[in-house]
Amino acid sequence: MMNYYGEPVTKLIEEFSKLPGIGYKSAQRLAFHILNMPLEKAENLSKAILEAKLNLKYCELCQNITDQSPCKICGNTKRDEKMIMVVEGPRDMAAYEKTNEYFGLYHVLHGSISPMNGVSPDDLKIKELLNRLKDNKCEEVIAATNPNVEGEATAMYLSRLIKPLGVKVTRIAHGVPVGGDLEYVDEITLSRAFKGRQEIE
Ligand SMILES: [Zn+2]
Repeated sequence: MMNYYGEPVTKLIEEFSKLPGIGYKSAQRLAFHILNMPLEKAENLSKAILEAKLNLKYCELCQNITDQSPCKICGNTKRDEKMIMVVEGPRDMAAYEKTNEYFGLYHVLHGSISPMNGVSPDDLKIKELLNRLKDNKCEEVIAATNPNVEGEATAMYLSRLIKPLGVKVTRIAHGVPVGGDLEYVDEITLSRAFKGRQEIE
């Protein structure tokens, strides 16, 4: 890359262009936006990034990113312990919370099984899920992984592991577009997908 702007600016553009969905042009725009900010605002931004990183914790139960463990949802005694909804990421969980239709607990896998991308079951928070089932409080695990090849494979894998434990495993239903990403689906569609869930054969 040609160094038109001097080393520090080039470095900033480079770092931005490593972020998901940010091409070189957007990276350039962001970098110059920051350079034009008052120093105080730029400091707030970099402090927010560092604080989020340094205080990052996983909830000991659901494995969601949190600042307290157990997190607010796991620690809420009003939530229904009989249901655990398994999602791929924290943003899927947030999407389901927004529906205001689901009052069970969650479990965040932090990904889906994908041999193509070198993600095996051991890379996901599956052991932690099985541990949670040991107290026999949960009666149903809802596989709410994304409706794409990896998400389906993950749901099947979980079903095979969990059913022998005597826990029902269901899969969210239609309404979620195939190949779609849960975090972009609207609340009505998500709530329909939850209500129409079916037991995995
Ligand atoms: Zn939690």
